[in-house]
Amino acid sequence: MKIAICPGSFDPITLGHLDIIERTADIFDEVIVLVASNKSKKTLFTTQERMELIKRCVTAKNVTVDTDDGLLVNYAREKKAAAIVKGLRAMSDFDYEFQQALTNKSLYPECETVFLTARGENMFLSSSMVKEVCSLGGDITSFVPGAIAEDIIKRCKGDN
Ligand code: ADP
Repeated sequence: MKIAICPGSFDPITLGHLDIIERTADIFDEVIVLVASNKSKKTLFTTQERMELIKRCVTAKNVTVDTDDGLLVNYAREKKAAAIVKGLRAMSDFDYEFQQALTNKSLYPECETVFLTARGENMFLSSSMVKEVCSLGGDITSFVPGAIAEDIIKRCKGDN
């Protein structure tokens, strides 16, 4: 049984994240989407809300959603994960991701970091871009799963 972890903040999940999660679910037996709960980082949605939004969008049966506030490799070791899967957008992601992958490899050599390339249409898509466009009244429907668009619009307007 090969387990993969897709870690991130997912504040909120975008079509770019969802694409990486679904492609990972096609490759591995089990996928854990791990929502970082970093208490010092200000987020638009709480950890529980981000987890709930992800659950609403992911249809693959072999995907579960969890949260952790510790070191990613410790979580990976606990779950006996074979891989940490990350999406790579432009070259700008590369330096940071490479550094993280090497650090994680030295802390937990049994776990590989696997990079999936972002789809062309998602290359410049990020949660922060979605929040910025939405808070300025722009249309976010081509950036996020339809099931959660309204939640994001309401939160950006301060309605809930
Ligand atoms: P962000 O970088 O948008 O704040 P996260 O920290 O939640 O997102 O990222 C979680 C993972 O999803 C990372 O591996 C990141 O590279 C990947 N990712 C984020 N946006 C995209 C995208 N548009 N296409 C592919 N992968 C993405």
